[in-house]
Amino acid sequence: MNLVQETKFIMNKYNITASKSLGQNFLVDEEVVNGIVNNAEISKDDLVIEIGPGLGTLTSRLLEKAGKVVCIELDKRMVNIITDRFSLYENFEVINEDVLKVNLKELIKENLEKHNLKNAKVVANLPYYITTPIIMKLLVDRLGLQSITVMVQKEVAERLAEKPGGKECGAITYSINYFADSQIIIHVPNTSFIPTPEVNSAVIKLTLLKEPRVKVKNEETLFKVIKASFMQKRKTLVNSLYNGKILDSKQEIEQMLESFGIDLKIRGEKLSLEQFARIADYIE
Ligand code: SAM
Repeated sequence: MNLVQETKFIMNKYNITASKSLGQNFLVDEEVVNGIVNNAEISKDDLVIEIGPGLGTLTSRLLEKAGKVVCIELDKRMVNIITDRFSLYENFEVINEDVLKVNLKELIKENLEKHNLKNAKVVANLPYYITTPIIMKLLVDRLGLQSITVMVQKEVAERLAEKPGGKECGAITYSINYFADSQIIIHVPNTSFIPTPEVNSAVIKLTLLKEPRVKVKNEETLFKVIKASFMQKRKTLVNSLYNGKILDSKQEIEQMLESFGIDLKIRGEKLSLEQFARIADYIE
């Protein structure tokens, strides 16, 4: 049975219709599944966290390769299906919860210790409606992850893999660049899913740095400054920082930027991560 047949068979057997609001588009492309699993470089020393396992297509490959796979799935119907499919695997566990509410730090620490595993990795075909909050949680919460290999919408992948100052960059580009190296590893057409989504996708791999790329006094301030600078993309950095209430007076913003040798007409997307770090430290 190929993946299209298998997916249709499981959906029929359990009388499943995909939920649009939960971002359910099931991957049915064997080559992409293999590409994700191979690029994630999983071994028996690894704990894999899979977010949104759905019907279990990726899960079945991950279980063969990893020391332990912990799936986090919000939809109870999917939880029942993968429990049926994989409960005989000793290295399988599923948690029926919203991933944004799970204490991942504790979960990872416990599992690494209990199963004597060396690394933690996230592998997932993400629910697209919460891509950014999931990725930010995985990075900001300092989970000790080695890598994050995830399918996301193509345009989001381009922003995540862009370098600061590049033409696709957005606020999240800088946050990613602060924590990790990133690259697009597979381009995926919308025909690789059932049901077929309107958008194309891409798989991105984030390899986490041991230490953030730049040193700042307060990380929250750095992200606040970056966010404010991208709120109004067409505005100059001076106006964005002023409108975002980063400092109270335009004059002070201009003096600060001049003292850093930053052109007053520049827009946020042209700044380097180091320049954002200097602004954040000044505000602190
Ligand atoms: N991994 C499967 C695949 O590749 O075929 C399904 C991927 S589908 C794009 C996203 C999955 O995330 C769905 O199973 C959906 O129920 C689940 N999901 C949606 N919101 C979630 C949340 N907040 N927490 C955990 N899982 C969620």
